[in-house]
Amino acid sequence: MDMIERELMLLIFSVLLFSCNNAKPPPEPSARTVALIERSKALKIRGKKVEQSMLRKKDSIVLLIGGSGSSSESTVDVENTIEKEIAVNTIDEGFVNIEEISGEFVLDMKYATSDNFLKEKVYSCAKCYIRKEVATALVKANNDLLAQGYRIKLFDCYRPHSVQKKMWKIFPNPGYVADPKGGSIHNKGAAVDITLVRSAGGGVDMGTDFDHFGKEAHHSYNGHSKTIRSHRKLLRGTMEKHGFKTIRTEWWHYNFKGNRGYRISDFKWNCD
Ligand SMILES: [Zn+2]
Repeated sequence: MDMIERELMLLIFSVLLFSCNNAKPPPEPSARTVALIERSKALKIRGKKVEQSMLRKKDSIVLLIGGSGSSSESTVDVENTIEKEIAVNTIDEGFVNIEEISGEFVLDMKYATSDNFLKEKVYSCAKCYIRKEVATALVKANNDLLAQGYRIKLFDCYRPHSVQKKMWKIFPNPGYVADPKGGSIHNKGAAVDITLVRSAGGGVDMGTDFDHFGKEAHHSYNGHSKTIRSHRKLLRGTMEKHGFKTIRTEWWHYNFKGNRGYRISDFKWNCD
């Protein structure tokens, strides 16, 4: 190797060494870019979750009404199917007239009069129909109360879906009336609106009237007297013992625990 060759080799070697030492790593993304990438990933995951939850809900609606559960149906189709299902579901599916199984209740069916918050009569006659299982539990609760000098007065029981629509038309406020699209447990014949009366006759102070839509009607309201609170406690304790559940805002409303098995119905009772 002569001098020139050696120098040339040295030059190539030093160029290579220099370029290796100075090889720059890819530029680091800025903190803002990293944050944006992370956010976009999170949004993607969230979007996927929302989509899955919507599909699950849609499937459960279809299952509830006995459909195929195909998630390719549009929401409009599902709603139409519900409407159709309700429209044909007009027969007596295990409903009983409470008066036929017990004479120990007081009936004061508010929606068969205009003495209600709608100021309109929406039932053609005053009857209390509910599912047989619900009626059996209600009779047991009433028997417990009778032994203590009280009985149940009924304000509302099963409410046909077409009446729910009527009520929604008069008062389309979800705070007061359940949207007929989802329906109410009353439409399934598994909810009752009730109060206590003395078994020998005479009212019991529950703090507010039926369908009083204010905080005074809430179970958590503690501004009432000890007597009122004890009346509510008696009703609640007895109903819970027999399989009913409260809702937060209405002391008079009780859902039967097993209501998920029942369909929304438009069965109409006979007024003759
Ligand atoms: Zn109710």
